[in-house]
Amino acid sequence: MEIEEKAMDLLRNHALCDHCLGRMFARYGRGLKNEERGKSIKAVLTMEAHNRIGEGGKEDLQYIWKNGAYQPAANVIVFEGEKAEGSPLACEICGGVLDHMDEAVKAALNELSDLQWRTFLVATVGAEEIMVKEEKLAVDNGLQGYESIKWEINREVGKILSQLTGKEVDLKNPDVLVQVHPLSMTVSLQVSPIYVYGRYLKLERGIPQSKWVCSYCNGKGCPRCNYTGKKYPTSVEEEIASALVPLARASGDKFHAAGREDVDARMLGSGRPFVMELESPKIREIDLSNAAEMIKQHSNGKVEVRELRLVGKDFVNKVKSEEKNKKVYEGEIESSETLTDEDVQVLNSSFNGLEITQRTPQRVSRRRADLVRKKFIYELKVEKISENELKFYVQAEGGTYIKELISGDEGRTLPSLSSKIGKPLKCKQLDVMEVEVPFESKGI
Ligand SMILES: [Zn+2]
Ligand SMILES: [Zn+2]
Repeated sequence: MEIEEKAMDLLRNHALCDHCLGRMFARYGRGLKNEERGKSIKAVLTMEAHNRIGEGGKEDLQYIWKNGAYQPAANVIVFEGEKAEGSPLACEICGGVLDHMDEAVKAALNELSDLQWRTFLVATVGAEEIMVKEEKLAVDNGLQGYESIKWEINREVGKILSQLTGKEVDLKNPDVLVQVHPLSMTVSLQVSPIYVYGRYLKLERGIPQSKWVCSYCNGKGCPRCNYTGKKYPTSVEEEIASALVPLARASGDKFHAAGREDVDARMLGSGRPFVMELESPKIREIDLSNAAEMIKQHSNGKVEVRELRLVGKDFVNKVKSEEKNKKVYEGEIESSETLTDEDVQVLNSSFNGLEITQRTPQRVSRRRADLVRKKFIYELKVEKISENELKFYVQAEGGTYIKELISGDEGRTLPSLSSKIGKPLKCKQLDVMEVEVPFESKGI
């Protein structure tokens, strides 16, 4: 069947706007908008029906007028001395919303005016109801060359936005996703996060890496947490966010780091790599020149950051994959029994280049899966500072539980410093001195 015949058949049975009729034949013609396709088809059908006015053309003109909402068809009817019957019907596919795409564009421009952005993408959401109808119409009428409404809206709204703003479409990583809701022709924006890389130092003990929600009230606030909803008053994450979130005018943050140290351990040396993800930022090209100083002041010198810079999303995985890398720790050990020079000698010769077995420590077993892991100890040195105290230095694979490497955790870590000399040992103080980051030195 020809396009003309098929289209006339559609209009005899269905009310279709120019867009929705055009979309049924979207495969044909290049560089045409669906609206142009639909309107042109209605023009040709009107001329054709006028041409056979005595042989059913009159009835078809009524259909084109009523179902196609096409004024020229009514004009022919009146010209031929008849009356155009009734009034045009709303499109049964889209309900007429496609004639209001300019409203979506206007709404999008309004929302976008408060944002810094370079690239965008339009996505139609919540069009399922319309898509079911258009698919049924196409299938029932054997029309294989149809296009879905979502592609029409994505393309047309995208084209106009691009023309009006000069911004580019980015299919993979747009700064803003402009979501069009066709039923109401409204828009909502999804602003992609920005990512700030840096290394942090934690110069005081007793600060968790990320916000620690009070377990009694689940963050709601209770007497136990002094109505803060938090177990600790601050965290490394919160101190860093205190500067970065306002700079980007972000709605919040997510913190990604190359592993974590215990709350009571300091993070020293050149710091631990992290990426702060800033959600829904209004400003993307943030000025980081004063951020380090702001963080230092806000935290009263407890948290410092180095080498802050804007990076791509790929840094989140890069930083996280560094978790297993070598780390250097220093600290102090205490023993409930007197330590001998022989003990020191045994410890200094037992752990260099040794693989140990660690079962998830009792102290974290409520929060983490109970697993047995092999961890590699590169180097371990101890030095006596008193009858029952040692200083230690250890280079170990990332993720090694150092406190348990010392105490043995009731046999869960084997061997341990404690098991080697047969004396109960306890880690008194722990600092992370170095987090090795090969990707940085490679200049990636
Ligand atoms: Zn329509
Ligand atoms: Zn609480």
